[in-house]
Amino acid sequence: MAIRITKDADLTHLNTLGLPAVTSYLVEIFSINDLHELSREGFFEKENPFILGGGSNILFKKNLSRPVLKISIPGISVTEEDDDTALIESGAGENWHNLVFRTVDYHYGGIENLALIPGTVGAAPIQNIGAYGVELEQVFESLHCFDLRDHSEKIYRHSDCGFGYRDSIFKRELKDRVIITKVFLRLKKKNHTPNTSYHALATYLENRKITSPTIRDVYEAVVAIRRSKLPDPVLLGNAGSFFKNPVVEKSVHQRICIDYPDIPSYPVADGSIKIPAGWLIEKAGWKGKKVGNVGTYSNQALVIVNHGGATGDEIYQYAMRIRESVKNMFGVELVPEVNIVE
Ligand SMILES: Cc1cc2nc3c(=O)[nH]c(=O)nc-3n(C[C@H](O)[C@H](O)[C@H](O)COP(=O)(O)OP(=O)(O)OC[C@H]3O[C@@H](n4cnc5c(N)ncnc54)[C@H](O)[C@@H]3O)c2cc1C
Repeated sequence: MAIRITKDADLTHLNTLGLPAVTSYLVEIFSINDLHELSREGFFEKENPFILGGGSNILFKKNLSRPVLKISIPGISVTEEDDDTALIESGAGENWHNLVFRTVDYHYGGIENLALIPGTVGAAPIQNIGAYGVELEQVFESLHCFDLRDHSEKIYRHSDCGFGYRDSIFKRELKDRVIITKVFLRLKKKNHTPNTSYHALATYLENRKITSPTIRDVYEAVVAIRRSKLPDPVLLGNAGSFFKNPVVEKSVHQRICIDYPDIPSYPVADGSIKIPAGWLIEKAGWKGKKVGNVGTYSNQALVIVNHGGATGDEIYQYAMRIRESVKNMFGVELVPEVNIVE
């Protein structure tokens, strides 16, 4: 497929918050060769494009003053396998859930807990997507990218990516500097032990008397739980969790515990404590609240929703008010998980 260029493109349907934003040029590419072609034509010398996947982790604050480069590189295949594992190669433009669905169909284990996360495969390593006790980095082998600094193709292996909680080198030092074109994941064909450590998942399986869950059992449980908890962006615009769960020092946690002994908390390896941002936001009185066209989802305070007709700036201002009240009440600074695009 040839490079597709749309002038004065409306991005409303290309971001899951459903925010109206316009760009002077939307350029959609379908292969690595398209990127080389754009490079030969001097596109990257003249422009500093915003790189777009499925638009499920971004907030367009206003119209964009730069072109948007949509990555739609397709293709899923098994490139290598042995008795125990399979190496899956996926184009960056593939839909993440579609990849999960296909691997579950093959009985390959490793990403079943990450079912129904919206967006593309290419964006998955950027914030090291995670859900229900599993993070992408646990199966990640490597990725290919196009480096915008010297227009060359490069490979990043696991150890090069600096993965952390909803974090990687691509969200920091390499932000806007590389375009991820392909991702390689190592999945298990044999002896896979499904991860059911997450409380809601374990309870769901227990209630159905599933004591030795298969990969498909876990996949189906995750899909059912997510459908019951999270709003479908097609029906109610949202970008999933708006903030990261804060990780605080033990002393901060102890201080909060004096006034709020029921605070849920999860110890982190370095001795600090992770607190669910949704709990803090709920305690600060924002769950189910609505201000103008913007609100907080009634079943999950961590999700900010567009009730229809909201602008990016309205959503941003609402999020900042939440951040301020949590800071005033608990002395904890929330950090957005969503990428704010100025
Ligand atoms: C309902 C809902 C539920 C969600 N649940 C979860 C969850 O459980 N866990 C979780 O981790 N996330 C979750 N998310 C967030 C989101 O789905 C993920 O962050 C996803 O990986 C974003 O993919 P995307 O293709 O939509 O990226 P986009 O939103 O298009 O882009 C995100 C960032 O990555 C950059 N980018 C995108 N593609 C590329 C590329 N090929 N090369 C270089 N840079 C690129 C963009 O410039 C931007 O900075 C949820 C979102 C929604 C709407």
